[in-house]
Amino acid sequence: MIPFSPPYINEEVINEVTDSLKSGWITTGPKVNALEEEVANMVGVSHTLCVNSATSGLMLMLKWFGIEEGDEVIIPAYTYSATALAVLNIGGKPVMVDSSEDFNISVEAIEKVITSKTKVIIPVDIAGWPCDYNAINRLAESKRELFRAKGKNQKKLGRILVLSDAAHSIGASYNDKKTGALCDISVFSFHAVKNITTAEGGVVCLNLPETFSNANEYAFLRCFSLNGQTKDAYTKSKAGGWKYDIIYQGMKINMPDVLAAIGLVQIRMYNNELLKDRERIFELYNKAFSKTNWAIVPPSKNEIGKSSYHLYALRINNCSEEQRDKIIQGISDRGVAVNVHFQPMPLLTLFKGLGYKIEDYPQAYENYKSEISLPIYPQLTDKNVEYIVDVTIEEVTRVLNK
Ligand SMILES: *Cc1c(COP(=O)(O)O)cnc(C)c1O
Repeated sequence: MIPFSPPYINEEVINEVTDSLKSGWITTGPKVNALEEEVANMVGVSHTLCVNSATSGLMLMLKWFGIEEGDEVIIPAYTYSATALAVLNIGGKPVMVDSSEDFNISVEAIEKVITSKTKVIIPVDIAGWPCDYNAINRLAESKRELFRAKGKNQKKLGRILVLSDAAHSIGASYNDKKTGALCDISVFSFHAVKNITTAEGGVVCLNLPETFSNANEYAFLRCFSLNGQTKDAYTKSKAGGWKYDIIYQGMKINMPDVLAAIGLVQIRMYNNELLKDRERIFELYNKAFSKTNWAIVPPSKNEIGKSSYHLYALRINNCSEEQRDKIIQGISDRGVAVNVHFQPMPLLTLFKGLGYKIEDYPQAYENYKSEISLPIYPQLTDKNVEYIVDVTIEEVTRVLNK
């Protein structure tokens, strides 16, 4: 049995969590601060904020930018639904656009739907492959005259905000910069199946232009994410620190230390171990599948971009959705757990009900219909990978030749 994406838990992780449990302090405190610092150093930004999920992080930043009823937020139709739900739950209107063949949002499609109501673009680095941030940032810049600013932060920015859903892409790079430092704001996920996990969690990377002080915005967001309270519980727990004030109608979305401890160990071994292992497995798959005449291997590396190898999104040439489903059944029957990333949102009940139609997103459907995500994580051995490759090739051949 080969699971799809088990968390990476070694002795060190257990020791770090135990350390938090025994310390007398288990919610937001020193471990969260340390994790924020590790992420900031790795990414190359001055400030990052840990929160209880990437979804919360996206909602927080949409609120920070003053998104409200009638504001349009451009997102890809092909992503995990959290991207859209964050917008809906803040009261904004998700404007879905089609994708490119590399799975990521189509910049041409974004340009076509920008109006004076557009406030935010949320690109998603699908599978860990960075979007074309040069083009997206340029586009946001070129539409300054259309932008109708309302509220402090919109006026300060003076253009559409580029808010990256970087849930998959921690450690990826583009143009010699790391994801997290490629646009105004980026949000990584530390959910249980992501490259680095805290069981549940996320982190917001601030990379705002010079009209902002990232340090001041960090201080505001830290407070806002703790019910708008002027002192966190850690400070209040110290002798004489009882008095606080509530200064904003904030959210309660902070990350606890006991969870940050898990991610803290993982991020320290990420670049030199965990990410290298993912790359090694990705390359093994590429080598094996490149020998077939049906495989479309996923993007991972070119002159400007490098993936975080979050998913191995294999596509099969000339394969219908029904055939793909049969292949998945065959692979599963032989003990390998695989997945599909993603069902485009217009295929899902909620979004259908809101009027989104899959016919409007032909490339998203094309990417989805023949896609199978294979297991990719550091604990997989070369033997495991060989078995997965053999089973996949046999099942694809069996189904396509029927
Ligand atoms: C996992 C994921 C999220 C949500 O992350 P949470 O931390 O679970 O909120 C958002 N967007 C994408 C593309 C994801 O895959």
